[in-house]
Amino acid sequence: MTTTNTDSGLQLPENEIESNWDEVVDNFDNMNLNPELLRGIYAYGFERPSSIQQRAILPVLKGRDVIAQAQSGTGKTATFSISVLQKLDMSNKQCQALLLAPTRELAQQTQKVVLALGDFMRVECHPCIGGTNVREDMATLERGSQVVVGTPGRALDMINRGALKTDSIKLFVLDEADEMLSRGFKDQIYDVVQRLPPNTQIVLLSATMPTDVMEVTTKFMRDPVRILVKQDELTLEGIKQFYVAVEKEEWKLDTLCDLYETVTITQAVIFCNTRRKVDWLTEKLTARDFTVSAIHSDMEQVHREVIMKEFRSGSSRVLIATDLLARGIDVQQVSLVINYDIPTNKENYIHRIGRGGRFGRKGVAINFVTAEDTRMLREIEQFYSTQILEMPMNVADLI
Ligand code: ADP
Repeated sequence: MTTTNTDSGLQLPENEIESNWDEVVDNFDNMNLNPELLRGIYAYGFERPSSIQQRAILPVLKGRDVIAQAQSGTGKTATFSISVLQKLDMSNKQCQALLLAPTRELAQQTQKVVLALGDFMRVECHPCIGGTNVREDMATLERGSQVVVGTPGRALDMINRGALKTDSIKLFVLDEADEMLSRGFKDQIYDVVQRLPPNTQIVLLSATMPTDVMEVTTKFMRDPVRILVKQDELTLEGIKQFYVAVEKEEWKLDTLCDLYETVTITQAVIFCNTRRKVDWLTEKLTARDFTVSAIHSDMEQVHREVIMKEFRSGSSRVLIATDLLARGIDVQQVSLVINYDIPTNKENYIHRIGRGGRFGRKGVAINFVTAEDTRMLREIEQFYSTQILEMPMNVADLI
């Protein structure tokens, strides 16, 4: 496998499949966008398209199937949101674009981006996610929503019940595509694809796109444009990665408490590998009078929403989470990610640490490593051809 060097020494595994598209449009004004959409983009605060936006929006507008891979935090959400908005026929109330994401939180976040960018177009965008009232979901969908952003299970359910009509769908977008096409979701995704009009355009995005997933895409995509943004102006190069050798699992808690002041300089996400561990750690830290909040998939949907709202607003600053939060979640103030547990899956390492250092900001990732984890840490270092150094005393200065 070839690798790409970045300034920080972080090397990203390069896909064996190369890009096959090199057209670049470096200005939103030159994309021939609907004036209301353009107004929405500027009002949202974007001045220039990011690297992936410069490359991937146009082929979608030209009607091509697209696979876009770019690092975390480089603007993939806006890439497909802008493309989708530009393709809408605003005189038609029916669903014209179906966007799927692996978690409810990510679907809700994306819905907000679509609504904000499409504000002046008065776009209707509905989040179709599990854990919410089925009847209300059906009623909203039946009234019509040009864009639907969902999680696979609920979206498929709504299609099967006839509440989500697929006849007008012209675009199908899979965010975090590799996750969506592996493990639990794959069959549901195939089922959804079966229900779409045969000429529906398909767009896939992710920061990681393992070769086996790329192979799967040949089953349902037509001659896709592949855009692979390698090291560019915006990568994870701003994220400094460290480890703390804790030796034993039992010592992690004290280590975290020692770091707490550092942690609260900024907003931070602390990742554990299981829901139980998230609950356990939250309980322990709360008992020691540290203020933290927690999120995982066993919690009630309403509770999950409150937690995310508090974290996004900054009123809660430290969030303990499972991999539920590893992908896609964008909270710009997060500049520290702690892996209380080293992830068991190498792809998730890059997704987790990508929660910090959004859109070229700086960030720090700290890995707690027991004697048993040393091997996995080495493997991660090797996989990304990077060096994870021992955490320096002055880590607070780096955040
Ligand atoms: P990704 O999906 O690639 O992880 P996001 O789409 O969540 O990244 O974008 C990361 C952050 O960068 C978001 O806060 C987003 O608002 C911001 N962003 C995206 N595109 C631009 C742009 N062209 N100009 C300025 N900020 C941008």
